[in-house]
Amino acid sequence: MPDQVVTRFAPSPTGFLHIGGARTALFNWLYARGRGGKFLLRIEDTDRARSTPEATAAILQGMAWLGLDHDGEVISQFERAPRHAEVALELLAQGKAYKCFSTQDEIQAFREAAQAEKRSTLFRSPWRDVDPATHPDRPYVIRIKAPESGETVIRDRVQGDVTIRNDQLDDMVLLRSDGTPVYMLAVVVDDHDMGVTHVIRGDDHLNNAARQMMIYQAMGWDVPVWAHIPLIHGPDGKKLSKRHGALGAQEYQAMGYPAAGMRNYLARLGWSHGDDEFFTDAQAREWFDLDGIGKSPARFDLKKLENLSGQHIAASDDAALQQEIQAYLAAADLPALTDTQSSDLERAMYCLKDRARTFPELLEKASFILATRPIEPDEKAAAALASVSDGILTELTPQLQNASWTRECLEEALNAFAEAHGTKFGKLAAPLRAALAGRAVTPSVFDMMLVLGRDESLARLRDAANAA
Ligand code: GLU
Repeated sequence: MPDQVVTRFAPSPTGFLHIGGARTALFNWLYARGRGGKFLLRIEDTDRARSTPEATAAILQGMAWLGLDHDGEVISQFERAPRHAEVALELLAQGKAYKCFSTQDEIQAFREAAQAEKRSTLFRSPWRDVDPATHPDRPYVIRIKAPESGETVIRDRVQGDVTIRNDQLDDMVLLRSDGTPVYMLAVVVDDHDMGVTHVIRGDDHLNNAARQMMIYQAMGWDVPVWAHIPLIHGPDGKKLSKRHGALGAQEYQAMGYPAAGMRNYLARLGWSHGDDEFFTDAQAREWFDLDGIGKSPARFDLKKLENLSGQHIAASDDAALQQEIQAYLAAADLPALTDTQSSDLERAMYCLKDRARTFPELLEKASFILATRPIEPDEKAAAALASVSDGILTELTPQLQNASWTRECLEEALNAFAEAHGTKFGKLAAPLRAALAGRAVTPSVFDMMLVLGRDESLARLRDAANAA
């Protein structure tokens, strides 16, 4: 086996990038990236009726959002059909495959007879061993000569050894009568030609592996390491489906989850590293291995995603967050931030990013910096303003006018003011919050004052006092 690890993601372009596909892509990406290997992308577009360029674009977009960069060109499986056919013809030339002239009716009749006689209904072609000189001039398919006895063992890195009796395998068609290759052949030829060393994919493909193995063996090719991962289930333990909510990876971008949080969460869906829940990309690359993949299906858990997402937002670099928020707004079809808003947001980021589980939550907390005067208080803020005696804000403003605009001085000034009014700062906080932000959920009053600056803060307090 060559030293360099080569993995691939091989989606069928029939829809968006779904959560399961995103996780498969991520596992392959982590495995390659953690080992200085290559991660390739092959679009399995042989089903012409169902494959669309829009779906390919959506898959690429989803991968780009998740930062799953691939090496080399995107490979189209359909375009490689001549090469797949060439391999079928090579097997034919070597006597490892044969031309089968049986018609659909004949195959059907074979099956019915087998059923009546209670024999296996696997089709056994009468053309397997006939002398080619006797071949008729009729359409034919090319079938592989499957081993007739013994066993095929799939050495799977997740499922363990999976043994299939060879008498349960039929002589699979490689090339149809119109000369087009079947999917199973295409996958093997592509994986071989692309130099794929490790195939990590959903366990719905485990049955295919036995049939794919026949082609590897007939061609004398190295079999890649296979790791068939259990499919993802919903919180109710049933296979993840539409009724469990959003299935498209990118829908999570539009809901405001950061890509790093999503990667962390997807990595934990079926893979574990001790008790580690939160980890960085660098740690994931270093830790990811096939041994950590579980045998039982992982359950999708939105709470856990939210939790990890919040931790990643808190841990992110401010400028990077600001950029990612812009991308989120575009994905959610919301108005972009102006240049001023962007730089204000970045300035305020330090006091916004803790305890925001998603970008909408962060932006809600950021409304004090994104809004311009006059600030419209929402219902809760209006109630907080109404609860304080009209004079208080009017009285406070000149006192703050003379305070040094530092956290310590502001704290001192506000505490002194509260004390002079026989109350605690906590009682003043709600109306101040309401005056400064027009909202009840905000960063601390001091952070807001520091970010807004003296003039803007005082102007907002005056506005609120005047409106009262
Ligand atoms: N195209 C297949 C799918 O989307 C993947 C095949 C493979 O990984 O071998 O499920």
